[in-house]
Amino acid sequence: MKVIKFGGTSLADAKQLSKVLSIVQADPTRRIVVVSAPGKRFKDDTKVTDLLIGLAEVALAGAPTEGPLRAVLSRFASIGTEAGLPQELMTEIESDLRARVAADRTNRGLFMDCIKAAGEDYSARITAAFFRRNGVAAEYVNPGAAGLLLSDDFGNAMVLEESYARLATLRDRPGVVVFPGFFGITRQGHVATFPRGGSDITGAILAAAVKADVYENFTDVDSVFAMDPRIVPGAPAISLITYREMRELAYAGFGVFHDEAIVPAVRARIPINIRNTNRPEAPGTMIVPERPYDSGEVAGIASADGFCAIYIDKYLMNREIGFGRRLLQILEEEGVSYEHTPSGIDSLSVIVRDRELTDERERRITERIRTELQPDAILVERGLALIMIVGEGMHYTVGMASRATAALTQASVNIEMMNQGSSEISMMFGVKATDRVRAAQALYQAFFTPTPAA
Ligand code: ASP
Repeated sequence: MKVIKFGGTSLADAKQLSKVLSIVQADPTRRIVVVSAPGKRFKDDTKVTDLLIGLAEVALAGAPTEGPLRAVLSRFASIGTEAGLPQELMTEIESDLRARVAADRTNRGLFMDCIKAAGEDYSARITAAFFRRNGVAAEYVNPGAAGLLLSDDFGNAMVLEESYARLATLRDRPGVVVFPGFFGITRQGHVATFPRGGSDITGAILAAAVKADVYENFTDVDSVFAMDPRIVPGAPAISLITYREMRELAYAGFGVFHDEAIVPAVRARIPINIRNTNRPEAPGTMIVPERPYDSGEVAGIASADGFCAIYIDKYLMNREIGFGRRLLQILEEEGVSYEHTPSGIDSLSVIVRDRELTDERERRITERIRTELQPDAILVERGLALIMIVGEGMHYTVGMASRATAALTQASVNIEMMNQGSSEISMMFGVKATDRVRAAQALYQAFFTPTPAA
Protein backbone atom coordinates (compact mmCIF):
# COMPACT_ATOMS: atom_id res chain seq x y z
CA MET A 1 0.00 0.00 0.00
CA LYS A 2 1.00 3.59 -0.55
CA VAL A 3 0.81 6.63 1.68
CA ILE A 4 0.31 9.66 -0.50
CA LYS A 5 0.71 13.26 0.58
CA PHE A 6 -0.53 16.34 -1.26
CA GLY A 7 0.97 19.79 -0.71
CA GLY A 8 -1.01 23.02 -0.44
CA THR A 9 -1.01 23.98 -4.12
CA SER A 10 -2.58 20.57 -4.92
CA LEU A 11 -5.58 21.48 -2.73
CA ALA A 12 -5.84 25.19 -3.45
CA ASP A 13 -9.14 25.00 -5.37
CA ALA A 14 -11.72 22.58 -6.76
CA LYS A 15 -9.83 22.14 -10.03
CA GLN A 16 -6.80 20.92 -8.11
CA LEU A 17 -9.00 18.73 -5.95
CA SER A 18 -10.24 16.96 -9.10
CA LYS A 19 -6.64 16.16 -10.05
CA VAL A 20 -6.08 14.75 -6.57
CA LEU A 21 -9.17 12.58 -6.98
CA SER A 22 -8.00 11.19 -10.34
CA ILE A 23 -4.58 10.41 -8.90
CA VAL A 24 -6.11 8.46 -6.02
CA GLN A 25 -8.57 6.68 -8.34
CA ALA A 26 -5.77 5.67 -10.70
CA ASP A 27 -4.13 3.35 -8.17
CA PRO A 28 -6.08 1.24 -5.64
CA THR A 29 -2.99 0.89 -3.47
CA ARG A 30 -3.14 4.63 -2.68
CA ARG A 31 -4.99 4.07 0.56
CA ILE A 32 -3.83 6.75 2.98
CA VAL A 33 -4.02 10.33 1.77
CA VAL A 34 -2.37 13.08 3.84
CA VAL A 35 -3.36 16.64 3.00
CA SER A 36 -1.95 20.12 3.61
CA ALA A 37 -4.06 23.23 4.04
CA PRO A 38 -5.02 24.94 0.77
CA GLY A 39 -2.01 26.83 -0.60
CA LYS A 40 -1.57 29.57 -3.16
CA ARG A 41 -3.77 29.61 -6.28
CA PHE A 42 -1.63 32.24 -7.97
CA LYS A 43 1.66 33.99 -7.29
CA ASP A 44 0.49 36.71 -4.90
CA ASP A 45 -2.18 34.63 -3.20
CA THR A 46 -1.98 33.87 0.55
CA LYS A 47 -1.76 30.34 1.92
CA VAL A 48 -4.58 29.40 4.28
CA THR A 49 -2.05 28.66 7.05
CA ASP A 50 -0.79 32.24 6.77
CA LEU A 51 -4.36 33.55 6.93
CA LEU A 52 -4.89 31.48 10.06
CA ILE A 53 -1.70 32.72 11.69
CA GLY A 54 -2.85 36.28 10.94
CA LEU A 55 -6.22 35.51 12.50
CA ALA A 56 -4.64 34.06 15.66
CA GLU A 57 -2.33 37.07 15.99
CA VAL A 58 -5.23 39.49 15.72
CA ALA A 59 -7.11 37.50 18.37
CA LEU A 60 -4.10 37.41 20.68
CA ALA A 61 -3.70 41.16 20.29
CA GLY A 62 -7.32 41.58 21.39
CA ALA A 63 -8.35 43.19 18.07
CA PRO A 64 -11.60 42.37 16.22
CA THR A 65 -11.38 38.97 14.53
CA GLU A 66 -14.39 39.03 12.19
CA GLY A 67 -12.48 40.27 9.10
CA PRO A 68 -9.61 37.74 9.15
CA LEU A 69 -12.04 34.99 10.18
CA ARG A 70 -14.21 35.72 7.14
CA ALA A 71 -11.13 35.64 4.89
CA VAL A 72 -10.39 32.06 6.01
CA LEU A 73 -14.00 30.94 5.70
CA SER A 74 -14.36 32.40 2.23
CA ARG A 75 -11.37 30.35 0.99
CA PHE A 76 -13.04 27.16 2.19
CA ALA A 77 -16.48 28.26 1.02
CA SER A 78 -15.25 28.86 -2.51
CA ILE A 79 -13.61 25.43 -2.65
CA GLY A 80 -16.76 23.84 -1.22
CA THR A 81 -19.09 25.59 -3.65
CA GLU A 82 -16.96 24.87 -6.72
CA ALA A 83 -16.61 21.26 -5.63
CA GLY A 84 -20.39 20.95 -5.17
CA LEU A 85 -20.18 20.04 -1.47
CA PRO A 86 -23.18 20.34 0.86
CA GLN A 87 -23.75 23.58 2.75
CA GLU A 88 -23.83 21.65 6.08
CA LEU A 89 -20.12 20.99 5.78
CA MET A 90 -19.44 24.71 5.41
CA THR A 91 -21.64 25.48 8.40
CA GLU A 92 -19.78 22.86 10.41
CA ILE A 93 -16.45 24.43 9.44
CA GLU A 94 -17.67 27.91 10.36
CA SER A 95 -18.86 26.94 13.82
CA ASP A 96 -15.70 24.93 14.46
CA LEU A 97 -13.47 27.90 13.55
CA ARG A 98 -15.55 30.28 15.66
CA ALA A 99 -15.19 27.92 18.62
CA ARG A 100 -11.40 27.78 18.15
CA VAL A 101 -11.19 31.59 18.07
CA ALA A 102 -13.36 31.89 21.17
CA ALA A 103 -11.20 29.44 23.15
CA ASP A 104 -8.98 30.34 26.10
CA ARG A 105 -5.92 32.43 25.07
CA THR A 106 -3.85 32.20 28.24
CA ASN A 107 -1.34 29.85 26.66
CA ARG A 108 -0.49 31.70 23.46
CA GLY A 109 1.36 28.81 21.81
CA LEU A 110 -1.49 26.43 22.48
CA PHE A 111 -4.05 28.90 21.14
CA MET A 112 -1.97 29.62 18.02
CA ASP A 113 -1.51 25.91 17.24
CA CYS A 114 -5.19 25.15 17.57
CA ILE A 115 -6.01 27.86 15.00
CA LYS A 116 -3.11 26.95 12.67
CA ALA A 117 -4.14 23.29 12.59
CA ALA A 118 -7.64 24.18 11.37
CA GLY A 119 -6.36 24.61 7.78
CA GLU A 120 -5.32 20.97 7.44
CA ASP A 121 -8.32 19.74 9.38
CA TYR A 122 -10.89 21.42 7.10
CA SER A 123 -8.87 20.53 4.01
CA ALA A 124 -9.11 16.84 4.98
CA ARG A 125 -12.84 17.06 5.70
CA ILE A 126 -13.43 18.70 2.33
CA THR A 127 -11.23 16.21 0.47
CA ALA A 128 -12.98 13.22 2.06
CA ALA A 129 -16.42 14.67 1.24
CA PHE A 130 -15.33 15.38 -2.33
CA PHE A 131 -14.03 11.82 -2.75
CA ARG A 132 -17.28 10.34 -1.45
CA ARG A 133 -19.33 12.59 -3.72
CA ASN A 134 -17.35 11.14 -6.61
CA GLY A 135 -17.82 7.52 -5.65
CA VAL A 136 -14.65 6.84 -3.66
CA ALA A 137 -15.26 5.31 -0.24
CA ALA A 138 -13.25 7.78 1.83
CA GLU A 139 -13.20 8.62 5.49
CA TYR A 140 -11.76 11.66 7.32
CA VAL A 141 -9.61 10.46 10.21
CA ASN A 142 -8.77 12.81 13.05
CA PRO A 143 -5.08 12.61 14.10
CA GLY A 144 -5.98 12.84 17.79
CA ALA A 145 -8.47 9.99 17.56
CA ALA A 146 -6.03 7.91 15.52
CA GLY A 147 -3.31 8.32 18.17
CA LEU A 148 -0.79 10.72 16.62
CA LEU A 149 0.68 11.87 19.92
CA LEU A 150 3.06 14.83 19.98
CA SER A 151 5.23 16.59 22.53
CA ASP A 152 3.80 19.85 23.84
CA ASP A 153 6.36 22.11 22.14
CA PHE A 154 3.67 24.13 20.41
CA GLY A 155 4.66 25.10 16.87
CA ASN A 156 7.66 22.80 17.00
CA ALA A 157 6.22 19.53 18.29
CA MET A 158 7.82 16.13 17.88
CA VAL A 159 6.16 12.77 17.48
CA LEU A 160 6.07 10.49 20.53
CA GLU A 161 7.25 6.96 19.86
CA GLU A 162 4.07 5.24 20.98
CA SER A 163 2.20 6.87 18.09
CA TYR A 164 3.60 4.38 15.61
CA ALA A 165 1.92 1.31 17.09
CA ARG A 166 -1.43 3.09 17.28
CA LEU A 167 -1.25 4.48 13.77
CA ALA A 168 -0.32 1.04 12.39
CA THR A 169 -3.99 0.08 12.67
CA LEU A 170 -4.87 2.58 9.90
CA ARG A 171 -3.71 -0.16 7.58
CA ASP A 172 -6.77 -2.22 8.38
CA ARG A 173 -9.33 0.48 7.65
CA PRO A 174 -11.46 -0.16 4.59
CA GLY A 175 -11.50 2.41 1.79
CA VAL A 176 -9.36 5.51 1.58
CA VAL A 177 -8.25 7.27 4.76
CA VAL A 178 -7.97 11.06 4.45
CA PHE A 179 -5.69 12.32 7.19
CA PRO A 180 -4.89 15.99 7.87
CA GLY A 181 -1.17 16.77 7.98
CA PHE A 182 0.75 19.15 10.23
CA PHE A 183 -0.80 18.44 13.64
CA GLY A 184 -1.43 15.86 16.31
CA ILE A 185 -2.47 15.89 19.91
CA THR A 186 -0.52 16.18 23.17
CA ARG A 187 -0.89 13.80 26.11
CA GLN A 188 -3.10 16.44 27.73
CA GLY A 189 -5.36 16.38 24.67
CA HIS A 190 -4.33 19.72 23.13
CA VAL A 191 -3.75 20.21 19.43
CA ALA A 192 -0.05 20.80 18.64
CA THR A 193 1.63 21.43 15.29
CA PHE A 194 4.92 20.45 13.72
CA PRO A 195 7.16 23.22 12.35
CA ARG A 196 5.97 24.91 9.12
CA GLY A 197 5.81 22.54 6.18
CA GLY A 198 5.01 19.80 8.67
CA SER A 199 2.49 17.87 6.61
CA ASP A 200 5.50 16.14 5.06
CA ILE A 201 6.34 14.90 8.56
CA THR A 202 2.83 13.50 9.05
CA GLY A 203 3.11 11.65 5.73
CA ALA A 204 6.49 10.18 6.67
CA ILE A 205 5.20 9.08 10.09
CA LEU A 206 2.16 7.35 8.60
CA ALA A 207 4.27 5.68 5.91
CA ALA A 208 6.57 4.29 8.61
CA ALA A 209 3.69 3.29 10.90
CA VAL A 210 1.77 1.29 8.29
CA LYS A 211 5.00 0.05 6.64
CA ALA A 212 3.95 1.44 3.29
CA ASP A 213 5.64 0.19 0.13
CA VAL A 214 6.13 3.78 -1.02
CA TYR A 215 5.59 7.25 0.40
CA GLU A 216 4.40 9.40 -2.50
CA ASN A 217 4.84 13.11 -1.98
CA PHE A 218 2.85 15.09 -4.55
CA THR A 219 3.83 18.70 -5.02
CA ASP A 220 3.98 21.16 -7.90
CA VAL A 221 7.29 20.24 -9.52
CA ASP A 222 8.04 17.27 -11.77
CA SER A 223 11.03 16.09 -9.80
CA VAL A 224 14.20 17.06 -8.05
CA PHE A 225 16.67 18.57 -10.51
CA ALA A 226 20.42 18.09 -10.62
CA MET A 227 20.79 21.84 -10.28
CA ASP A 228 18.37 24.61 -9.37
CA PRO A 229 16.68 25.38 -12.74
CA ARG A 230 16.81 29.08 -11.88
CA ILE A 231 20.59 28.82 -12.03
CA VAL A 232 20.85 26.42 -14.95
CA PRO A 233 17.60 26.30 -16.94
CA GLY A 234 17.11 22.85 -18.41
CA ALA A 235 19.19 21.04 -15.77
CA PRO A 236 18.31 17.34 -15.90
CA ALA A 237 15.74 15.75 -13.59
CA ILE A 238 17.03 13.22 -11.07
CA SER A 239 15.11 9.96 -11.32
CA LEU A 240 16.83 7.99 -8.56
CA ILE A 241 18.73 9.30 -5.56
CA THR A 242 19.68 7.98 -2.12
CA TYR A 243 18.54 9.35 1.21
CA ARG A 244 22.11 10.46 1.93
CA GLU A 245 22.37 12.34 -1.34
CA MET A 246 19.03 14.02 -0.76
CA ARG A 247 20.04 15.06 2.74
CA GLU A 248 23.25 16.70 1.50
CA LEU A 249 21.48 18.47 -1.34
CA ALA A 250 18.63 19.62 0.88
CA TYR A 251 21.13 20.95 3.40
CA ALA A 252 22.53 23.32 0.82
CA GLY A 253 19.30 24.65 -0.54
CA PHE A 254 17.36 22.00 -2.45
CA GLY A 255 13.94 23.21 -1.50
CA VAL A 256 11.57 20.40 -2.55
CA PHE A 257 11.18 19.49 1.05
CA HIS A 258 12.89 19.86 4.33
CA ASP A 259 15.07 16.77 4.67
CA GLU A 260 14.42 16.41 8.39
CA ALA A 261 10.74 15.99 7.56
CA ILE A 262 11.33 12.58 6.03
CA VAL A 263 13.33 11.09 8.90
CA PRO A 264 10.57 8.66 9.98
CA ALA A 265 10.33 7.24 6.45
CA VAL A 266 14.11 7.06 6.13
CA ARG A 267 14.44 5.16 9.42
CA ALA A 268 11.87 2.66 8.21
CA ARG A 269 13.70 2.48 4.81
CA ILE A 270 10.56 3.35 2.87
CA PRO A 271 11.18 4.65 -0.66
CA ILE A 272 9.93 8.21 -1.18
CA ASN A 273 8.60 9.31 -4.53
CA ILE A 274 8.39 13.05 -5.27
CA ARG A 275 5.74 13.70 -7.93
CA ASN A 276 3.76 16.44 -9.58
CA THR A 277 -0.01 16.71 -9.10
CA ASN A 278 -0.22 18.74 -12.31
CA ARG A 279 1.68 16.12 -14.33
CA PRO A 280 0.92 12.77 -12.70
CA GLU A 281 2.26 10.91 -15.74
CA ALA A 282 5.81 12.07 -14.91
CA PRO A 283 7.58 9.40 -12.82
CA GLY A 284 9.19 11.97 -10.51
CA THR A 285 12.18 11.37 -8.29
CA MET A 286 12.57 8.21 -6.26
CA ILE A 287 14.54 8.52 -3.02
CA VAL A 288 15.82 5.17 -1.82
CA PRO A 289 18.19 3.72 0.79
CA GLU A 290 20.72 2.54 -1.83
CA ARG A 291 21.18 2.76 -5.57
CA PRO A 292 23.63 1.54 -8.19
CA TYR A 293 26.03 4.24 -9.36
CA ASP A 294 28.97 4.78 -11.66
CA SER A 295 32.31 5.84 -10.34
CA GLY A 296 32.70 9.61 -10.50
CA GLU A 297 29.01 10.19 -11.13
CA VAL A 298 27.61 13.37 -9.58
CA ALA A 299 23.92 13.35 -8.62
CA GLY A 300 23.42 17.06 -8.09
CA ILE A 301 24.95 20.38 -7.16
CA ALA A 302 23.32 22.58 -4.54
CA SER A 303 24.17 26.03 -3.28
CA ALA A 304 22.96 28.27 -0.49
CA ASP A 305 23.70 31.76 0.83
CA GLY A 306 23.50 32.84 4.41
CA PHE A 307 26.70 31.55 5.99
CA CYS A 308 29.60 33.25 7.72
CA ALA A 309 33.01 32.16 9.00
CA ILE A 310 34.78 32.90 12.27
CA TYR A 311 38.41 32.54 11.34
CA ILE A 312 41.00 32.06 14.10
CA ASP A 313 44.75 31.93 13.77
CA LYS A 314 47.19 30.99 16.51
CA TYR A 315 50.76 29.85 16.16
CA LEU A 316 51.20 26.27 17.51
CA MET A 317 47.43 25.75 17.73
CA ASN A 318 48.02 22.12 16.83
CA ARG A 319 49.97 21.59 20.07
CA GLU A 320 47.47 23.28 22.35
CA ILE A 321 45.36 20.54 23.87
CA GLY A 322 41.70 21.46 24.23
CA PHE A 323 41.78 24.50 21.94
CA GLY A 324 38.99 23.24 19.68
CA ARG A 325 36.85 22.14 22.58
CA ARG A 326 37.15 25.47 24.35
CA LEU A 327 36.33 27.34 21.16
CA LEU A 328 33.23 25.26 20.46
CA GLN A 329 32.23 25.55 24.09
CA ILE A 330 32.13 29.34 23.77
CA LEU A 331 29.78 28.94 20.81
CA GLU A 332 27.68 26.47 22.75
CA GLU A 333 27.40 28.77 25.74
CA GLU A 334 26.36 31.62 23.46
CA GLY A 335 23.68 29.41 21.88
CA VAL A 336 25.21 29.24 18.39
CA SER A 337 25.15 25.97 16.49
CA TYR A 338 28.13 25.39 14.19
CA GLU A 339 27.97 23.86 10.73
CA HIS A 340 31.57 23.03 9.74
CA THR A 341 35.06 23.47 11.12
CA PRO A 342 37.67 23.30 8.37
CA SER A 343 41.13 23.57 9.91
CA GLY A 344 44.83 24.03 9.19
CA ILE A 345 47.86 23.56 11.44
CA ASP A 346 47.62 26.94 13.09
CA SER A 347 44.18 28.01 12.00
CA LEU A 348 40.60 27.03 12.33
CA SER A 349 37.41 28.38 10.76
CA VAL A 350 34.01 27.82 12.23
CA ILE A 351 31.21 28.13 9.73
CA VAL A 352 27.88 29.19 11.16
CA ARG A 353 24.61 30.43 9.72
CA ASP A 354 24.42 34.21 9.39
CA ARG A 355 21.08 34.35 11.13
CA GLU A 356 22.51 32.62 14.22
CA LEU A 357 25.36 35.08 14.61
CA THR A 358 23.55 38.29 15.49
CA ASP A 359 25.72 41.40 15.92
CA GLU A 360 25.34 41.13 19.67
CA ARG A 361 26.42 37.48 19.71
CA GLU A 362 29.32 38.24 17.38
CA ARG A 363 30.55 40.92 19.75
CA ARG A 364 30.34 38.63 22.79
CA ILE A 365 31.85 35.60 21.05
CA THR A 366 34.83 37.43 19.54
CA GLU A 367 35.49 39.12 22.88
CA ARG A 368 35.47 35.80 24.71
CA ILE A 369 37.68 34.13 22.11
CA ARG A 370 40.19 36.99 22.47
CA THR A 371 40.39 36.77 26.23
CA GLU A 372 39.98 33.03 26.76
CA LEU A 373 41.94 31.64 23.79
CA GLN A 374 44.43 34.45 23.10
CA PRO A 375 44.54 33.99 19.30
CA ASP A 376 47.03 35.81 17.05
CA ALA A 377 44.16 36.84 14.80
CA ILE A 378 40.41 36.57 14.68
CA LEU A 379 38.21 37.61 11.81
CA VAL A 380 34.51 37.25 11.08
CA GLU A 381 33.64 37.03 7.41
CA ARG A 382 30.02 37.46 6.45
CA GLY A 383 28.30 36.93 3.10
CA LEU A 384 29.48 33.42 2.33
CA ALA A 385 27.73 30.79 0.26
CA LEU A 386 28.25 27.04 0.36
CA ILE A 387 28.20 24.88 -2.72
CA MET A 388 27.85 21.12 -2.41
CA ILE A 389 28.68 18.64 -5.11
CA VAL A 390 26.93 15.42 -4.18
CA GLY A 391 27.00 11.86 -5.49
CA GLU A 392 27.43 8.33 -4.15
CA GLY A 393 29.83 7.82 -7.07
CA MET A 394 32.27 10.41 -5.73
CA HIS A 395 33.39 7.88 -3.17
CA TYR A 396 37.04 6.93 -3.80
CA THR A 397 37.10 8.62 -7.20
CA VAL A 398 40.38 10.25 -8.06
CA GLY A 399 40.41 13.69 -9.65
CA MET A 400 37.00 15.03 -8.54
CA ALA A 401 38.48 17.87 -6.49
CA SER A 402 40.87 18.94 -9.22
CA ARG A 403 38.05 19.05 -11.75
CA ALA A 404 36.04 21.24 -9.41
CA THR A 405 38.87 23.60 -8.51
CA ALA A 406 39.91 23.92 -12.16
CA ALA A 407 36.36 24.91 -13.07
CA LEU A 408 36.20 27.49 -10.29
CA THR A 409 39.59 28.93 -11.25
CA GLN A 410 38.48 29.25 -14.84
CA ALA A 411 35.39 31.13 -13.73
CA SER A 412 37.62 33.42 -11.59
CA VAL A 413 35.90 32.34 -8.39
CA ASN A 414 38.01 32.56 -5.28
CA ILE A 415 37.61 29.48 -3.06
CA GLU A 416 37.30 30.69 0.51
CA MET A 417 37.15 27.20 1.92
CA MET A 418 37.02 23.63 0.76
CA ASN A 419 35.91 20.54 2.62
CA GLN A 420 35.96 17.01 1.38
CA GLY A 421 35.17 15.71 4.76
CA SER A 422 33.99 12.63 6.47
CA SER A 423 30.93 12.23 4.28
CA GLU A 424 32.53 10.57 1.31
CA ILE A 425 29.71 11.45 -0.99
CA SER A 426 30.09 15.20 -1.13
CA MET A 427 32.54 17.99 -1.61
CA MET A 428 31.86 21.42 -0.23
CA PHE A 429 33.16 24.80 -1.31
CA GLY A 430 32.76 28.09 0.48
CA VAL A 431 32.69 31.11 -1.85
CA LYS A 432 31.59 34.73 -1.57
CA ALA A 433 27.80 34.91 -1.87
CA THR A 434 28.27 37.27 -4.81
CA ASP A 435 30.12 34.48 -6.66
CA ARG A 436 27.58 31.76 -5.87
CA VAL A 437 25.66 31.61 -9.13
CA ARG A 438 28.78 31.87 -11.30
CA ALA A 439 30.51 29.17 -9.24
CA ALA A 440 27.54 26.82 -9.39
CA GLN A 441 27.24 27.28 -13.15
CA ALA A 442 30.94 26.58 -13.63
CA LEU A 443 30.72 23.39 -11.57
CA TYR A 444 27.65 22.31 -13.50
CA GLN A 445 29.58 22.74 -16.74
CA ALA A 446 32.43 20.67 -15.35
CA PHE A 447 30.36 17.74 -14.09
CA PHE A 448 27.26 17.62 -16.25
CA THR A 449 28.19 18.60 -19.75
CA PRO A 450 29.89 15.84 -21.71
CA THR A 451 33.51 16.63 -22.58
CA PRO A 452 34.00 16.62 -26.34
CA ALA A 453 35.77 13.45 -27.51
CA ALA A 454 39.50 14.06 -28.13
N1 ASP B 1 0.12 24.19 6.06
C1 ASP B 1 1.34 24.10 6.79
C2 ASP B 1 2.31 25.18 6.34
O1 ASP B 1 1.98 25.97 5.47
C3 ASP B 1 1.94 22.74 6.74
C4 ASP B 1 2.19 22.19 5.36
O2 ASP B 1 1.64 22.65 4.36
O3 ASP B 1 2.98 21.24 5.25
O4 ASP B 1 3.39 25.25 6.85
